[in-house]
Amino acid sequence: MTFEELGLLPELLKAVADAGYTEPTPIQAQAIPVVIAGKDVMGGAQTGTGKTAGFVLPLLQRLARHASTSPSPARHPVRALILTPTRELAMQVHESVQTYGKYVPLRDLVVYGGVDIKPQTEALRKGVEIVVATPGRLLDHVQQKSVNFNSVEVLVLDEADRMLDMGFIPDIKRILAMLPKERQSLLFSATFSEEIKKLADSMLKAPVLIEVARRNAVTETVTHRMHPVAQDHKRQLLAHMLKTSSLKQVLVFVGTKFGASRLAVYLEKQGIEATAIHGDKSQQQRSEALEAFKSGAARVLVATDVAARGLDIDDLPHVINYELPHVPEDYIHRIGRTGRAGKEGDATSLVCPEERGKLAEIEKLIKRPIEQVLVQGFEPGPDFDAAADKGRRGRGSSRPERSEGSREKSAPPRREPRGRRDEERERPPSRRVEPAKPKLPKLDFDPSKPYEPKVSPQNTAPEPKRAHHRPKRAVPALLGGMPKPDQDK
Ligand code: AMP
Repeated sequence: MTFEELGLLPELLKAVADAGYTEPTPIQAQAIPVVIAGKDVMGGAQTGTGKTAGFVLPLLQRLARHASTSPSPARHPVRALILTPTRELAMQVHESVQTYGKYVPLRDLVVYGGVDIKPQTEALRKGVEIVVATPGRLLDHVQQKSVNFNSVEVLVLDEADRMLDMGFIPDIKRILAMLPKERQSLLFSATFSEEIKKLADSMLKAPVLIEVARRNAVTETVTHRMHPVAQDHKRQLLAHMLKTSSLKQVLVFVGTKFGASRLAVYLEKQGIEATAIHGDKSQQQRSEALEAFKSGAARVLVATDVAARGLDIDDLPHVINYELPHVPEDYIHRIGRTGRAGKEGDATSLVCPEERGKLAEIEKLIKRPIEQVLVQGFEPGPDFDAAADKGRRGRGSSRPERSEGSREKSAPPRREPRGRRDEERERPPSRRVEPAKPKLPKLDFDPSKPYEPKVSPQNTAPEPKRAHHRPKRAVPALLGGMPKPDQDK
């Protein structure tokens, strides 16, 4: 399949060739003709699948007939609205609009909060066909009457599941109510909960379902493992892992903004170049942190889920969950940045007894057990398994970061289904076994195909049957010395 065969305009083909793309990704091959035909789409795709070009290219094609070089604002009404949950994602999508639309004279603009509203207002007043926006700031513009939706032909809701998590659905509904009824709507989401399906029902007409990854599936090339550790020793373990390995470009996830800053400062004190990215940082600080990480100046980027959403970091090989996410689906979002395009990646979670319930939810969602690896000197003690129940009852006390502008209360922490809790209780207490090479169990569905079909043979080989319980192995503190947990306090 080639981009030419998808029926794209020469101006778009030229831009695609400039970007260096030789063939469409699976989501692009499926979505582009459907969107060009004017149909609604419900798209299931993980980050890294090329979904942005999958909707931006056909959207540009549909609007190309309106392209005009006239300076009159009346000739440039808002015709397409792309809503994203975060500023970073809005910026990235906007960048794609500019990259793919560089030979089509349509005006585009990105609007998000946390920056001066005036330049956005001025640009909107001059007229702009394609607006990429975060919901909160877009509503600010609605309130000050700097935007009019009467001519909107296409609406795109990107990362709808994240919109839901961040409490943006009421804002989205307010925006939807202002749009013309006759329009094309596209909804993209990495995961599909009942709430997302409800939202899709309310905004899509006879949508074509396009799915390149099975719902809630994780990339096959990612190795998952977890280190049981006491809460108080987590940061020492993290520092130890970073000091005794040559891991480069490590994205570390934490649950709160405060925790992100504190951890980055701690790592710096330990001589590990680290920077943090979270919602309380200014746009400039976030961009600088990201740049430092991408350039290698900072080896570690500590991020909250909200801030990390939409980060486009190619070939990120290591993700460390310093804290497990509050919502199990976020585990999939977090590791969506590693193992892209058939490359290998690893996701390591530091799990304290109180997080055992969350771990069980994640394993259930990704349909596989996560291998437990004890790190010598950091074993959590025999109470690790015993504390699981207590942890499940008491968890959910710290609040996840919420982005500015979100107005809903976060969802209450999920409780473990009864059957699952019982199953957990029956697990034997933490015990070392012989080292075992981590192997992923065979999935009961076809995994998503990366768009670079170069998967190494070991990833495609049939998987052996697994033992019923999770293997645990001790590793010699990941190469190198063996400090006591409190040594670097
Ligand atoms: P996305 O899933 O939209 O965030 O895209 C992930 C990455 O894939 C981005 O860095 C794109 O530049 C890249 N990409 C998109 N389409 C293609 C393509 N057809 N061939 C190669 N790379 C692509």
